Amino acid sequence: MKPHRFFAACLALFMLTACAAPAEPDASCQIEVLAMDTIMTLTVYGQNERRGEAILQDAAARIRELESLLSVTDENSELYRANHSGGMPVPLSDDTLGLLTEALSLCASTDGALDISVYPAVRAWGFTTGAYRVPETAELKKLLSQVDYTRIALENGVLTLPEGMELDLGAVAKGYAGDRLMELFKERGVTSAIASLGGNVQTLGAKPDGSPWRVAVQAPEGGYAGVLEVVGKAVITSGGYQRYFEQDGNTYIHIIDPATGYPVENELASVTIVADSGTRGDGLSTALFVMGREGAAEYWRGHRDFDFVILTKNGGVVITEGLEDCFSLYGEWENAALEVLR
Ligand code: AMP
Ligand code: MG
Repeated sequence: MKPHRFFAACLALFMLTACAAPAEPDASCQIEVLAMDTIMTLTVYGQNERRGEAILQDAAARIRELESLLSVTDENSELYRANHSGGMPVPLSDDTLGLLTEALSLCASTDGALDISVYPAVRAWGFTTGAYRVPETAELKKLLSQVDYTRIALENGVLTLPEGMELDLGAVAKGYAGDRLMELFKERGVTSAIASLGGNVQTLGAKPDGSPWRVAVQAPEGGYAGVLEVVGKAVITSGGYQRYFEQDGNTYIHIIDPATGYPVENELASVTIVADSGTRGDGLSTALFVMGREGAAEYWRGHRDFDFVILTKNGGVVITEGLEDCFSLYGEWENAALEVLR
């Protein structure tokens, strides 16, 4: 087991919760949870110790519930059952239905740059197991005949997949989990909280002192490239550096172009989306990465209900105008060329 995995497993085992000074508005309670293949850190503010811990335990249970529905590898998950239904209709839980509905509308609006049926190709490259390999072009071509989100039938809460098609909600599940966590916190009367779910950060309200959260944009080479100041937003990054392998001098990343079945190879190092909805932010971070710089800019101009920070492989930064006053470059990236889209 890799050291960080072992560390994470220990954390999950103990479900660490820690609370600072009780009942003060800026008192914080925190829990770490290993789920969805990442370490999640949830922090709520302004709760006394008992309430804070109870809320966080419920939040951890909610994440586990979602994981048990949405995991593509867990043979007991609802998604696994749907993927192995042999073309038969499968009734869905409210969560899977809700996420699938949102995801399909994102597939359509991004014209298939996001395609949740790309799973057979993702698996062929070894990204689900870590047994990486470069598939033959003929193999990918055959697999691509099963990739087409428009053939997914979702009616009255029942999913029917064409035989052989398999779905992967990895591009949107953490964003959806973030949305559900913020919902749970709000229902419990929390007004200030932050959740870090791997490359996703989701915030509820502002910091307890009323100031914005400061969320770092990771630099591909490690460290930070910039800092975003946000209130009540999801900040979600898809990066080529997050999961990849190298073979014969080529780098293959975990984001697949559904049009070709090959890992995306463009000038982008990462796409960070700032949005109200975690699900939308997560789906768009993946889709805009596939679209590339020009495609991402064009999509943003056509929608404008979100913002982005793009880091390019050659050290450039592109942001949309909504972030002009809340994004600053950091450290080694302080003097990077910064373009603002309007
Ligand atoms: P993210 O980290 O949110 O960008 O999601 C990447 C994950 O989504 C990958 O690990 C795959 O499981 C899956 N995936 C990769 N490419 C796509 C794509 N074009 N559309 C939908 N899901 C994808
Ligand atoms: Mg995503």
